[in-house]
Amino acid sequence: MPEYILEILRRLTGAGFEAYAVGGCVRDTLMGRVPHDWDVATSASCEQVAALFERTVPTGLKYGTVTVLLPGGGAEVTTFRRDGAYLNGRQPESVAFVTDIREDLSRRDFTVNAMAMDGAGEIADPFGGREDIRRRVIRCVGEPERRFAEDALRMARAVRFAAVLGFRIDGATLAALRRLAPLAEKLSAERVLAELQKTLLSPRPQGAALMIDYGLLGRFMTEKRKINAAPLADTPEELRTAVFALLVRAAGGTRDAEAFLRGLRAPAREAKLAGEAWTVYQELSPRPEDGELRRQLARRDSRAVLAACAARGEYRRARALAEERRFVRPRELALKGSELRELGLEGEAIARALETLALAVTDGAVPNTREALTAYARQHCIR
Ligand code: ATP
Ligand code: MG
Repeated sequence: MPEYILEILRRLTGAGFEAYAVGGCVRDTLMGRVPHDWDVATSASCEQVAALFERTVPTGLKYGTVTVLLPGGGAEVTTFRRDGAYLNGRQPESVAFVTDIREDLSRRDFTVNAMAMDGAGEIADPFGGREDIRRRVIRCVGEPERRFAEDALRMARAVRFAAVLGFRIDGATLAALRRLAPLAEKLSAERVLAELQKTLLSPRPQGAALMIDYGLLGRFMTEKRKINAAPLADTPEELRTAVFALLVRAAGGTRDAEAFLRGLRAPAREAKLAGEAWTVYQELSPRPEDGELRRQLARRDSRAVLAACAARGEYRRARALAEERRFVRPRELALKGSELRELGLEGEAIARALETLALAVTDGAVPNTREALTAYARQHCIR
């Protein structure tokens, strides 16, 4: 446990309160993973927490959360609570503060996320989280149907944690997920996208296909289709969202890869990339040779070409060709648009001629010199 977390726990317990590290950080520590943040649960109220530390931020007083800032780092400190009724399947209508850590742990989504650790390293684990880590399963705390009905986001979180941790979803939890997946229709696109992207950025990005298989993305698709997610394993992180959209498009799950990502409220540039990549994807022949890929790299945005090739399971080769750089783009030609104008070309015809020349140089049909390109343009681009 980092020193600043120990310090937070010490100060709270020194003042007579209970205090524990809880949730993901305990799970990650037990698994030998490095937690990316630490959350603290305490019997102290927000006011009592604020009174014990010099620097605090009232992050979510309604939910009992204050952020405590120490020189070594900050942590969210939340008063033990029980969640009231979930009215709209999203946030609890109300929360009630409670005195028992076990009650706080019982509101949490999965057994592996429902453990607490005190400053001495003692673990509270009332739902068998350690055993589920050992069995490598994601299992709901309590009755799965009820927990998913309360908060449909938990279904997407189950898929996400399974991919991130390399676990499978336990039988009863999975059965409930399959049955209640239609409730995901109510979730905001932003929250679904966040879980989808965490899944795509995990060591098992193919897990994202499960979101489709279980029906969690139904509202964003025009047709229910299974995707072939295998290519995601070989796709670099920064292209995975676009490649996922291509795979959905290729399977006929959407009519438009760009619109699919816009529907999910992905950043506009991500959606645009998917749209451009789909254009390339369609142009590619079934078994593109190196020359064909070089021609694509000469004409199109290279990220779009790489994404299209990744969706075809050809990322490595495309990447190698992009790095080898045996292709020339229109703006790298030794002949400029203005010089083509002097040869009598105008507007669109200039852009087309530049592309023709770039492809000719890329193919090795003509050297990239002013004289050679002028002669080639006279012969091939001017009527
Ligand atoms: P990560 O490594 O992604 O931060 P995490 O387990 O810390 O994983 P968070 O989303 O940060 O997950 O949530 C912190 C903790 O709060 C979880 O471990 C879980 O105990 C609880 N929690 C979060 N979201 C929910 C939810 N929708 N329903 C029930 N409990 C939740
Ligand atoms: Mg967290």
